[in-house]
Amino acid sequence: MTTDKKRNWKPATQLVHSGTLRSQFGEMSEAIFLTQGYVYPTAEAAEARFKGEEPGFIYSRYANPTVSMFEQRMCALEGAEDARATASGMAAVAAAILCSLKAGDHIVAARAVFGSCRWIVETLAPNYGIEATLVDGRDIANWEKAVRPNTKLFFLESPANPTLEVVDIAAVASLATSIGARLVVDNVFATPLQQRPLELGAHVAVYSATKHIDGQGRCLGGIILSDKEWIDENLHNYFRHTGPSLSPFNAWNLLKGLETLPIRVAQQTRNAARIADFLAGRPEVEQVIYPGRADHPQADIVSKQMKGGSTLICIHLKGGKQAAFAFQNALDIVLISNNLGDAKSLITHPATTTHKNVSDEARAELGIGAGTLRFSAGLEDVDDLLEDIDRALAATR
Ligand SMILES: *Cc1c(COP(=O)(O)O)cnc(C)c1O
Repeated sequence: MTTDKKRNWKPATQLVHSGTLRSQFGEMSEAIFLTQGYVYPTAEAAEARFKGEEPGFIYSRYANPTVSMFEQRMCALEGAEDARATASGMAAVAAAILCSLKAGDHIVAARAVFGSCRWIVETLAPNYGIEATLVDGRDIANWEKAVRPNTKLFFLESPANPTLEVVDIAAVASLATSIGARLVVDNVFATPLQQRPLELGAHVAVYSATKHIDGQGRCLGGIILSDKEWIDENLHNYFRHTGPSLSPFNAWNLLKGLETLPIRVAQQTRNAARIADFLAGRPEVEQVIYPGRADHPQADIVSKQMKGGSTLICIHLKGGKQAAFAFQNALDIVLISNNLGDAKSLITHPATTTHKNVSDEARAELGIGAGTLRFSAGLEDVDDLLEDIDRALAATR
């Protein structure tokens, strides 16, 4: 197997070439190593590999060449020393949180996070004696007030699902560092191209690769990126012994997704920006929240930490649930689905789907109303999308 040397490539080049391992056959495209194990030429070689005296793969629960290519390509893009790929985004979030904490420790998390992430912090972690505090992450003072002597971890998502509110990542990172804690950022909504958590001072970046990285609705996947020391100390044994490993076939899908990630994200962001502007001028719409528009409630933080806008839009429609449902049902091209970051434009009604299990009170606190919709812009021709949306808006009246 040969691998590329570390080079000073720009992201688009890294995403096509970084991390590639070529076998003796010289295959052009990345090979899918659908194998659970590896054979050793001799018993001595097996012993040496298990002792760690000789490099090489041992078992695909530990590492696999196709999965390693995906990890190394993501490291190049993120500027991270090391990474571990997982079977889903939630496996990545769960591992990043649980491996950093033990009974008696305290985690502070933004309350505006993906529903399952919130469940890990609010419900699962306390079951194991980990204290948890949820804060309104928009104001750094709330993070400061939540700190306890045993605070070991901060967790946030920015922009957040589905309200697209943002958190000042550099400010929370510097608070974490100042008390010897770590900050984990779920960077799914921004994508690694539009926001670089590690450069902003975060210690760990996590992704659901299911979203923009695959981007074509084919498979689940996730990844955790950080410094090598933290991964060796916190994740290495957890991965070996609990097995949240990514399938080599899915890793291959994700590698192929990475090749086109920059052009997809750029086009989807252009489409989203056009659609956000269109929606903002419509009488049926109460409010549009779009990172990249000057009227985003935290436009100053958006411009400080994000390179581009977003592929996602939060729409508050007038007329509550009835209008939101009528709008979704009248859409022809845009599909009703709770995935996001896909080539297909998708819409979802958080109050009755993704955030159904959040209490009414918590939903209100998060700004998720009966008329709130999350729109994920796809790769269709934007004029067709605008026509579809225009027609569906008329159906809400
Ligand atoms: C989808 C998503 C997840 C979970 O990822 P899966 O791949 O579905 O397990 C976590 N965080 C955010 C922000 C997400 O959008």
